[in-house]
Amino acid sequence: GCSTADVVNAVRAMAVVVAAHRDELVDLDRVIGDGDHGENLKRGFDFVVSAVDSSEVDSPAAVLKLVAKTLISKVGGASGPLYGTAFLRAATDLEEVDGASVAAALRAALDGVVARGKAEIGDKTMVDALLPAVEAAEAVKDKSVAEVLAAAATAAETGAESTIPLVARKGRASYLGERSAGHLDPGARSTALLLRSLADSAS
Ligand code: ADP
Ligand code: MG
Ligand code: MG
Repeated sequence: GCSTADVVNAVRAMAVVVAAHRDELVDLDRVIGDGDHGENLKRGFDFVVSAVDSSEVDSPAAVLKLVAKTLISKVGGASGPLYGTAFLRAATDLEEVDGASVAAALRAALDGVVARGKAEIGDKTMVDALLPAVEAAEAVKDKSVAEVLAAAATAAETGAESTIPLVARKGRASYLGERSAGHLDPGARSTALLLRSLADSAS
């Protein structure tokens, strides 16, 4: 299992990774979107760190709910409500933290993103990173939290790369039609970054 403090530290680590990759995510979004993805996420996670610093959170689920609430209320772009929903759904399944519960939390997060955004695999969105991550996590769910998250992160990285040739069918990139092909989806990239950060925190 892991403690509330472990989850808080993992959230802080995600904020550091988001800040370090802000410009990269902005550049990706400038090509097929409106160039704000890195700034949206950085602002969101800066508010998340402030919220964690100034709140009494007494369970892993409470931490994730605070992250969710903050991202939903503070991030204007599509990614805020989507990531917020992901963290909110993940929280409900996180009573005991082991490999199986982490895999279940990731599945719940994916279900939340799909319920909210209606994207399918191949639409060139964060779902193209998150869905293979969930499947990889479920395939090793009897192993440790670290191994489950490492499998998820690796699958998310491959999934993100798989968005390059795709034509976007959801979000702003879909306005470009065929011209969206040949470019990495920023949200798929950020999903891979967040999952790699979680895996690093757990290892
Ligand atoms: P906005 O497009 O509003 O500026 P962001 O730039 O923060 O928001 O986020 C863009 C990312 O959000 C995209 O790269 C894509 O991965 C993701 N996204 C957009 N729409 C959807 C959707 N309907 N379902 C899943 N992911 C989506
Ligand atoms: Mg954008
Ligand atoms: Mg925007």
